[in-house]
Amino acid sequence: MQKVDLKNLDLEELELFIARHGKERYRARQIFKWLYQKGAASFEEMSNLSKDLRQELSASSHISSLVPETVEVSRDGTRKYLFRLTDGNAIESVVIPEEDRNTLCISSQVGCAMACEFCLTGTFRLTRNLTTAEIVNQVCAVKREMEVKNLVFMGMGEPLANLDNVIRALKIITCDDGLQFSTRRVTVSTAGLVREMDLLGRAVTVNLAVSLNATTDELRDRLMPINKKYPLKELLAACKRFPLPGRRMITVEYVLIREVNDTLDDARRLVKLISGIPCKVNLIPFNEHEQSEFRKPDQAAIDIFHKYLLDKHFTVITRSSRGIDISAACGQLKGKLDKKSED
Ligand code: SAH
Repeated sequence: MQKVDLKNLDLEELELFIARHGKERYRARQIFKWLYQKGAASFEEMSNLSKDLRQELSASSHISSLVPETVEVSRDGTRKYLFRLTDGNAIESVVIPEEDRNTLCISSQVGCAMACEFCLTGTFRLTRNLTTAEIVNQVCAVKREMEVKNLVFMGMGEPLANLDNVIRALKIITCDDGLQFSTRRVTVSTAGLVREMDLLGRAVTVNLAVSLNATTDELRDRLMPINKKYPLKELLAACKRFPLPGRRMITVEYVLIREVNDTLDDARRLVKLISGIPCKVNLIPFNEHEQSEFRKPDQAAIDIFHKYLLDKHFTVITRSSRGIDISAACGQLKGKLDKKSED
């Protein structure tokens, strides 16, 4: 019988698992705290569980973890972690240090099926979904080294194409007995899977970022093939009905690409599209990479675009390209390629 990886279970599922062993439900909370707050790597450490229970658990289950194979540190302090998975695939996570907080950007898939024209990860196609454990273990591994305040699902993969595991991971990440992240500090970024956006909103409370990147269906069809399935009108309607508590807003991400979508006309169309949606805008100057002919926009074009949105009373952030010298910037992750050499 294959042992269950306890990190693949959310608290409710762990309670069921424990109940099936004929034990008290509250043991699950104790185990959760050991796994996620004390970083336990073995059952022996779980000193408030009886020896019997510990033995039973180790017979039927195990505790997985990820250890970084390499950590690259950028001149600006950005850190890129490469994690080798048990099947030999590799994924990357990035920590972006800021004065009062660190933001961790995690992956949800090996590769990606979205095939967005500008994205390096997309050129590799999808190898497989990450398990829940592989998602949360990225957080556990980095937390062993430093405090992390913000978490974004903006690494490799389309999180909503791996919805069940991402929802389960989100439950663990925001659980009081788990990783204890505030739901205000966790953001899932999507290329725009409308059906899954609805399902996500029903299942958990989390911030949503939507990669819009174009203001006409014609251009978006080309840049992001998912637009053919869920065109702008449907996507924006889904943004409008996405349940966010209080005064929280959706983040609209917009990758600015030179002479593709960076003109004042684009900015005008963008404002029209998003004007009914409580949102803030995140402008991301295109990060150049060897698989793409696209170029980053002129600073003047960025400034004009940014200012237009500000003048229309939107909250706008132009994201700086952190970690560019170690290929850790948005859309540059390619962990799958870094297969360990055979020798
Ligand atoms: N699949 C999800 C999350 C991963 S991509 C999504 O599409 O949102 C995270 C962000 O990086 C997205 O907004 C995407 O549009 C952007 N991105 C991808 N490639 C990029 C590049 N080369 N330069 C700048 N941003 C890029």
